[in-house]
Amino acid sequence: MRYDVIVIGGGPAGLMAAIFAKRKGKNVLICEKMPKPGKKLLVTGAGRCNLLNDTLDTSFYHPGAEKLVASVLEKFGKEAMLGFFKELGLATYADETGRIFPATNQAASVLKIFEMELKRLKIPIELNCEVKNIHAIQDGFELKLSKTTPSPLSSPPSQRGRGQGEGKCADIKCNNVILCAGGKSYPALGADGNGYALAAAFGHTILEPVPSTVPLTVKDPWCHFLQGQKIRAAVTSFIQGKKTRTASGELLFTQYGLSGTAILDISEEISVAMNREHIKGVAVKADMVPFMEEKELRAELSRRSSRGFAGAELTEGLLPPKIGDLLRRTLKTSDPASLAKILKEKEFQITGTRGWNEAEFTAGGIPPQEVDPATLESNLQKRLYLAGEILDVGGRRGGYNLAWAWASGAVAGSEA
Ligand SMILES: Cc1cc2nc3c(=O)[nH]c(=O)nc-3n(C[C@H](O)[C@H](O)[C@H](O)COP(=O)(O)OP(=O)(O)OC[C@H]3O[C@@H](n4cnc5c(N)ncnc54)[C@H](O)[C@@H]3O)c2cc1C
Repeated sequence: MRYDVIVIGGGPAGLMAAIFAKRKGKNVLICEKMPKPGKKLLVTGAGRCNLLNDTLDTSFYHPGAEKLVASVLEKFGKEAMLGFFKELGLATYADETGRIFPATNQAASVLKIFEMELKRLKIPIELNCEVKNIHAIQDGFELKLSKTTPSPLSSPPSQRGRGQGEGKCADIKCNNVILCAGGKSYPALGADGNGYALAAAFGHTILEPVPSTVPLTVKDPWCHFLQGQKIRAAVTSFIQGKKTRTASGELLFTQYGLSGTAILDISEEISVAMNREHIKGVAVKADMVPFMEEKELRAELSRRSSRGFAGAELTEGLLPPKIGDLLRRTLKTSDPASLAKILKEKEFQITGTRGWNEAEFTAGGIPPQEVDPATLESNLQKRLYLAGEILDVGGRRGGYNLAWAWASGAVAGSEA
């Protein structure tokens, strides 16, 4: 049997692509290497799934991806996404920051409505089935498939190798391929970077993928002493002395270094510099009292000092007691000016980033310039389409990566 469209990968982009291709009357098959589709989707937004953002435009993606993202969002933007979810029966809400979630606050509901739509449209999904190779033939492709062995614990016997439709895992032909194999983050959930080789075989460039939205490693006694402590802070990255990015939010001290939303938000440039360009001399400065100017903080510390407060008492009520305790133990000075400077500009030398198992996104992959912005068809191979995180569009935290997956999947599926 020859399919009109084979979708490689049953993640958010692949599920969208398959649904939109089928709605156009195409004969579609999804190949997914894991025992279940959407494994990564289930862990998004800490299990709540930040589906998209109320403010959705190209400024939340890499400048180099602007043309592609603009074209795709014009075809399938925020209203189209919300309309699609509504049609499938998924109620949503936006929180006070504009992040949009399912009303159930459960990523599992999102996956379920997709599974229901696959079933309704009778779209077969071949599970435990990894595409190893795509070979171009006359007006289409032949795919080499390999049956992956499911872990006995990872899925009940009733689900193994079974999809909404039955099918044998063998070499298979199709007219069009939509490659939605994802990036490299959280490889245990399926996407492990193998999709890059499938695209590279057609001449695509692969910009070295590095972990993004990832905690940072630091050798500093502060991290060791404060591990587990969270504060609200403003953090700024410096790469070889040059100010790179600032973010505000949670700063979490860990055994190995720094994490928390503020750190995740500034991690991409640091990861690219250190992991791809092998640059040394990366630092993060943390303003641990972002709600006060340095002058104001200095005056407040002087006021406390003149009232007879000393040691940890100086910062009591401004910072968690553990930080006061650290300052008391480690600092030789209780001079308000020096203390204020440290609290406003504590510098951490970054030794690296954590790895793929802790990175939410991938920085790198296939350059956006290598696909047609109107259709997502490869510029190097006719009938091959690319969608989702495999393309280097660099969405920010806040629902922008899933928004890209929904939009690019819908466009590729409609065009293939
Ligand atoms: C912890 C975490 C939290 C996140 N939270 C959010 C969030 O709240 N909001 C947000 O916008 N983004 C979030 N993201 C990012 C978001 O999940 C991804 O950007 C998105 O899943 C990408 O979709 P995709 O379909 O391109 O790739 P994936 O979801 O990675 O799916 C790719 C699929 O392809 C399959 N596959 C790979 N190779 C093959 C092959 N050769 N043959 C067959 N199948 C193959 C994989 O098994 C996988 O199922 C989060 C990511 C992580 C890790």
